[in-house]
Amino acid sequence: MKKRIITSMLAVMLTVTLTGCSKENTVKTSSESNKVKIVTSFYGMKALVEEIGKDKVEIHNVVPEGTEPHDFEPKAKDMINIEKGNIFVINGAGMEGWSEKVLKSVNNSNLEVVDASKGIELISAKDHEEEVEEDHDHGEYDPHTWLGIETAKIQGKNIMEALVKADPGNKTYYEENYKTFEGAMNDILNTYKPKFNEVSNKKFITGHATFGYLCRDLGLEQNSIEDVFAEGEPSPKKLEELVKYVKQNNVKVIFTETLVSPEISETLAREVKGKTEKIYTLHSNEDNKTFVEAMKYNVETIYNSLK
Ligand SMILES: [Zn+2]
Repeated sequence: MKKRIITSMLAVMLTVTLTGCSKENTVKTSSESNKVKIVTSFYGMKALVEEIGKDKVEIHNVVPEGTEPHDFEPKAKDMINIEKGNIFVINGAGMEGWSEKVLKSVNNSNLEVVDASKGIELISAKDHEEEVEEDHDHGEYDPHTWLGIETAKIQGKNIMEALVKADPGNKTYYEENYKTFEGAMNDILNTYKPKFNEVSNKKFITGHATFGYLCRDLGLEQNSIEDVFAEGEPSPKKLEELVKYVKQNNVKVIFTETLVSPEISETLAREVKGKTEKIYTLHSNEDNKTFVEAMKYNVETIYNSLK
């Protein structure tokens, strides 16, 4: 482990000191480091960075595919990967409870840490869930900022600014990619906001409470099987309440997430003679959807379930 750290430190030092000395060495090193090395915390951040950085960035994602990011604990190898990065992108808003500890022990003073939620007006975790218990692992805010349209635009901009700073030679490239991304987000908002205004039913059910920011964008209301931190296997009482909620509000579709007990969603759907449908929360990679594709799918699918 130590050896690898020393090797990578040496590589950095060589790049700095040998520039212009040995052509062979320089070419080799610069072709390896041509791309900005980005470390992202979990898939949602990776998908977002891909929209802005496209082929000028090389991304290493920390939380492995299929792992629930709310309860993630980093390992020593994650530390090494973060040390190799130029930029470390976290969602922030309390999503990565592990990041602070990791950053204290990471040996890379040049690492630029991007809190993608910087500047976002956060929603209190208690706003959705009266029963959220005191939980020392999680923060006081709903961390799912990347799943809202307005909030994703702010995150994209924070990422764009970090890329411009790290790689000023490609400033226009990143700015244009951001404009395209912002345009796609605005298109979704402008297309669907009037549509949602026309439906009388604004209520839907998900696996865990992930769409607080999207609800704020579109004037919707979510209810969920598990809480905002994907915790709390529902009690029989909670299930009973959900059945009542679904019946009273004429909810026909229960959205399912791969990482959150789809069986319970299915039970609930059977109970009320409704159906389940997939939704992309981007906690992990499902079906290789790009960020924009997943957002479009989610908004369209929620709309179709309400109209
Ligand atoms: Zn979540």
